[in-house]
Amino acid sequence: MAATKGAPDLYSQFLSSAPGAFLAKQAGLPKPETLRRYQPGEPPLAGPVLIGGSGRLVEPLRVLLSDYPAASPHDDKLGGLVFDATGIENIEQLEQLYQFFQPAVRNLGPSSRVVVLGTTPEETGDIEEHIAQRALEGFTRSVGKELRRGGTAQLVYVSPDAAPDLSGVESTLRFLLSAKSAFVSGQVIAVGKDGSTAPASWDRPLEGKVALVTGAARGIGATIAEVLSRDGAHVICADIPAAGEALSQTANKVGGTSLALDVTAPDAAEVLEKHVKERHSGGLDIVVHNAGITRDKLLANMDDGRWNSVIGVNLAAPHRLTTALVKSGTLNDGGRVIDVSSIAGIAGNRGQTNYGTSKAGVIGLVHAEAPELAKKDITINAVAPGFIETAMTAAIPFATREAGRRMSSLLQGGQTVDVAETIAYFASPASNAVTGQIVRVCGQSLIGA
Ligand code: NAD
Repeated sequence: MAATKGAPDLYSQFLSSAPGAFLAKQAGLPKPETLRRYQPGEPPLAGPVLIGGSGRLVEPLRVLLSDYPAASPHDDKLGGLVFDATGIENIEQLEQLYQFFQPAVRNLGPSSRVVVLGTTPEETGDIEEHIAQRALEGFTRSVGKELRRGGTAQLVYVSPDAAPDLSGVESTLRFLLSAKSAFVSGQVIAVGKDGSTAPASWDRPLEGKVALVTGAARGIGATIAEVLSRDGAHVICADIPAAGEALSQTANKVGGTSLALDVTAPDAAEVLEKHVKERHSGGLDIVVHNAGITRDKLLANMDDGRWNSVIGVNLAAPHRLTTALVKSGTLNDGGRVIDVSSIAGIAGNRGQTNYGTSKAGVIGLVHAEAPELAKKDITINAVAPGFIETAMTAAIPFATREAGRRMSSLLQGGQTVDVAETIAYFASPASNAVTGQIVRVCGQSLIGA
C-alpha cells in the first residue's frame, strides 16, 4: 500500500529510541503499539479465539469461525474473544459478561480482538431485554478503553430475524476479527436480517465489480483505490482536473481509469454517466464519495466562500450524485454507496463549523437514504475517520496534531489503509445486510461520542 505522506510521528520515534524508552518507563508515558495490519497470506489474528455465551448465535458462531484456531480458557496469548450476549434478557443476566470476560481479558495478546454480539435493542420487543442489550454498548466501549497493546473491542447487534446460519453477519465478523480493522475500536454495527452468499474468494470479494472513488489523486482516496483494486474491483479514479498528474499515477498503479471530475460541477452526474456507459456496459457497482475539503476559520471570521465550498464538496455533491446515479440506473441494483464523514461531524470542532456541518450532514444523508435505497438492495454506509496521517492532518499545528494523535485508546494516528479497509468491508457483496451504519475509524478517539 502507498506510504502515508503524513507528518513524522516524533513521539513514537522518540519512544523507540533507547533513551526514549528508558525515560518513558520512568515517567509512565503511554507507548503506542505497532498495530498488526493485513498482509496477504497471514492468519487474520495473532492467536486463537475463545468463544463464549449462551444465546441463539453461539452454535452457528462456532461453525462460522471453525477456520480460526480455537482456544482453551487457559491460553495466555489469545488472539480474540467472541461472546454471544443475545442470551442476556434482563439486568441480572448482564453478570454473564463479567463471568466470561473478567478472567479471560488478561490473557489477550497484542493486537487482539474482542467482539460482543447482541440483539438490536429496538427489535427485541421486550423492555427488560431492550435495557440489557443496550447496556452492552457501555461494556464494549469501556473494554476498548482498557485494552492495551493495540487491542480493539466492538459490538455487533444482530437482528432477531437474522438468517440462522449467520451468513449475513460473516463479512462483519471477518472484518472485525482481522488485522483489517486495526484502527477501529469501540464501534457498534447493526446487521439486518438478510442472509448473504459468501464470495468465491474472501481475498478478492470485489472480483468483476466496477467502483468509483472520488478524490482519488492522493491521501485516503488513493489508498481506497488501491485496496478496492486489491480486492478485485476495476476502479474509476476521479479527481479535480488540476490533480491530473497525481490522478493518472493512482489510476496506473491500480490498473484503473482516471476521470477528471469536479464533483461540484453542474454536469458532474452526466459526465460520470457518460464515462460509465462508454466503458462499462455492466454499470457501476460501488461509489465511494471520498472527495473532501477543509476551509477552517472561526465562525466569526468566516467568509461565505469558505462556508459554501465546504458544504458543496463534502455534502451537497455526494447527495446529488448518489440521487442521479440511482435515478439513471448507472448504479446497479445491489450496489454499494460509501460516504466519508469525520469525527468532527460527531463531536464538532473549533474552527470547523462549515466542515462539522457538512460531515454531520453526511451522517444524516446515510440514515435518510438507507431505507429508500434498500428497495433496490443498495446499501449506504459511512466511515468517520479520526486522526489519519495525511497531507490534511500534516497541515495541523504541531501541538494540536500531537493531541489529535495521542487522545485515543490506541495512542496514535491511523493510516489511510485503515479507512480504506473499512470501506472495502462495506463494499463487499457479502455486506448486503449492513446498511445505514456509521463506523468511526479513529482508534477510539476521545473526541466525540
Ligand atoms: P486530501 O486533501 O489529501 O485529499 C482529498 C482529495 O479530494 C484531493 O485529491 C482533492 O483534489 C480531491 N477533491 C477536492 N475537491 C474535489 C472536488 N470538488 N471534486 C473532486 N475531487 C476533489 O484529504 P484526505 O485527508 O485524503 O481526506 C479524504 C476524505 O477523508 C475527505 O472527505 C476528508 O474530509 C475525510 N477525512 C479525513 C481525515 C484525516 O485525518 N485525513 C479525517 C476525517 C475525515
